[in-house]
Amino acid sequence: MSRLLLFSFLLIILISAVYTLQLYLDDNIIDQKSEIKSIEKEETSIVEPVKDFKARITKKPFGILITPETSPIQPERFSGYHTGVDVEYGDVKDDVVVLAVADGLVKYSGWVVGYGGVIAIRHQINNKEYLAVYGHLNPATLITKGKVIKGEQIGILGQENSTETDNERKHLHFALYIGKDLNLKGYVEVQNQLSDWINPMIIFFSK
Ligand SMILES: [Zn+2]
Repeated sequence: MSRLLLFSFLLIILISAVYTLQLYLDDNIIDQKSEIKSIEKEETSIVEPVKDFKARITKKPFGILITPETSPIQPERFSGYHTGVDVEYGDVKDDVVVLAVADGLVKYSGWVVGYGGVIAIRHQINNKEYLAVYGHLNPATLITKGKVIKGEQIGILGQENSTETDNERKHLHFALYIGKDLNLKGYVEVQNQLSDWINPMIIFFSK
């Protein structure tokens, strides 16, 4: 009888040991999974600056050579190679909110010829630094403080043919400049100068 008791006792210990080990392994697997998830999240740690970002780049993509004669926009007052992408909102009557694509520091916020309201923010994306230029925003809606966080509203697109956009159409000019200085140029005269900018499409849609 006592042998049977001892056997049952040992059996119970064995079963609970196996059960505990199982729980421990499960926990470890969950830990590993969440670790992988957080790494993935860090690599793609950007948000699009406006809704329908990709679909609305219909007229001026990155690097296009614009001349007054051949421009998709008529009449055209600019010429040169386009340093960013233009995201078109001429058909949208409502306010178009512009978001910070990543955490960053505001380097410029105000009114500039050719843009109307413009805000330039230094971001770190995939361990590289960029000066992001967000052009043609209503200057009255621009944030001016130093730090921004990813996804934070930084302004609202300006109205077409007004001082808000310096008489441009309702669109966002979005560029990622590689240099360390405050460079707001929308166009460059020589094609190889484009190497100071990166095509935002590569950052947002290369995966
Ligand atoms: Zn542009």
